[in-house]
Amino acid sequence: MFSLSKRIIITCILPIFILLISFFLGRTHDIEQANLQAERQVTQLNNYIDTELARFSAIPELLTYNELMISFVAGSPQHYSAINNYLADIQQASGASDIFVLDTQGDVIASSNWQTDYTFLGSNYAFRPYFKRAFTDEKVAYFALGIRSNKRGIYFSQAVYSDNKAIGVVVLKVNVSKFENDRELLNTSKGSHFYLQLPDHVIAMSDIEQWRLNSFTQLGITAKQEIKSSRSYLDHQPIYIKQHQSQSQSTTQFKIDKQRYVSSSMKLNNFNATMHILVDVSKVDSAQISRLFWVIIIYSFLIIIGYSLLARFAGYKKLLYSRHSLEQKVIERTQTLEKVQTALVQSAKLATIGQLSAGINHEINQPLSAINTYLASAKRLLAKGNYEALSQSLVIIEGLVERVHKIVGQLKHFSKPSGMQLRPYPLAALVNNALMISSAQLKQDNVQVEPPQFDEAVIVWVDALKFEQVLVNLITNASQAMNGAVERNLTFNLECFEERVKFSILDTGSGIEQHVFSHLFEPFYSTKDSKGLGLGLSISKQIIDSFNGSLSAHNRLQGGAEFIISLSSKRGDKHD
Ligand code: ADP
Repeated sequence: MFSLSKRIIITCILPIFILLISFFLGRTHDIEQANLQAERQVTQLNNYIDTELARFSAIPELLTYNELMISFVAGSPQHYSAINNYLADIQQASGASDIFVLDTQGDVIASSNWQTDYTFLGSNYAFRPYFKRAFTDEKVAYFALGIRSNKRGIYFSQAVYSDNKAIGVVVLKVNVSKFENDRELLNTSKGSHFYLQLPDHVIAMSDIEQWRLNSFTQLGITAKQEIKSSRSYLDHQPIYIKQHQSQSQSTTQFKIDKQRYVSSSMKLNNFNATMHILVDVSKVDSAQISRLFWVIIIYSFLIIIGYSLLARFAGYKKLLYSRHSLEQKVIERTQTLEKVQTALVQSAKLATIGQLSAGINHEINQPLSAINTYLASAKRLLAKGNYEALSQSLVIIEGLVERVHKIVGQLKHFSKPSGMQLRPYPLAALVNNALMISSAQLKQDNVQVEPPQFDEAVIVWVDALKFEQVLVNLITNASQAMNGAVERNLTFNLECFEERVKFSILDTGSGIEQHVFSHLFEPFYSTKDSKGLGLGLSISKQIIDSFNGSLSAHNRLQGGAEFIISLSSKRGDKHD
């Protein structure tokens, strides 16, 4: 069906190729999905943090417009408790960590945590950039590590004005751990990590603790000096986190601690920092194994189906071919058999002629001798002028010539093969013709014939020549079987039914021997040694079968054999 090289390609090389393609396509697809996930998560997280930061940044601004606050900062100590309580209430309601107020020296003069042990009251934050920058009329958002709490936070600060003069600063601190915790609730953490990177490359917040206040960038000496002097992270010096970045097409891949990530980043609107989302793609390669497993299953399934379909198709083709060649063989055999059959029929005819030739010789010689005698006498009568006697002799000669004609006429039909012509014939005439052809044999065997007394109206649908050949065979066989018998009678019997006639030839011969019965109609079976060809009965049966009739035989109770021919008396299928 397939050559060996094609099989090797289909079973070895092609699957490897398909597996490689599936692996790379699956991998690319999974990385694309990871990229989309990173983009989606960074947008989601940024939106949330931006909204929160906008909310917190509005609080110090509102406080700077508060009349009580302005008069307190301007120097009205009677409002001390009211302002501290007010800050504590707002801190509680907003979720901020602390809210406090600084005077122009940077001293804390009011604080939401005024009643706690770790209160900021009395502390000085003049060194903090959020204090200094607030005096430049800037709305400040600043990341730093809390001095007392040691917690990371974003500080929002704004100056309090009185008569267009900055008289103090309101500061609100939000612990960034709040966002780190909220991020868990936002469900953006599945298989991914995030970090918020400040302009100085220090990581302000991240879900991974080790990354916090450290950096993915190797900081230079100046950068380190600046960080140290700003004291934003107090005495903490950011550590470099080892990572490797690679760019392929549109995706950036990170490798941190043997883990591989694709990343997406976006700047926050309300705070000068960039949010990064890293989606873990370390397991993308191993995740292809289950996909490849399915590819192998589907491939094997398709190959099995393909092979079985091809096998079926090949089988079907073979079947068609063998059916065709079988039909061809049947046609050829039938043609050969037909030829053999024709040859056999012809042989049988010739055999019959051979058997009859002696009798025929006698049959023809007798009238010829008579003609000779009558011609000699006619010559004499002519010489004498006895015309009356001459004319009588000529009439006799004419009769004798006609007889010879008849005999020869009957025999000549045997000399050539004839086609099948089913026509209605009176049975009596056919039997009489056969008797006449066989008369020499009958005479030779000294057989008494009881000629049939059938009604001329009894019709059979046969091919006359072939039927006569059958009758001659049967009569000759009967005649030969009676040779040597005491009683030698040949009789005929007829039974008529609605559409059939049953015609029998009965003899008083030796009868059919028991062991002969099973071979009776077999070709070339004969008990007559060299005298018989053994074709007569087999040919006769085939001829009668071809008339839609049947030929059978049995022994008679009183001795001798009976051959029965059953024939249709109505128009049959085989006719011209
Ligand atoms: P053949 O006459 O050449 O032997 P047949 O086919 O005509 O071939 O006959 C086959 C055999 O059937 C004969 O050899 C003979 O033994 C047996 N047989 C045929 N007709 C008769 C009959 N009327 N009586 C007894 N035996 C017969």
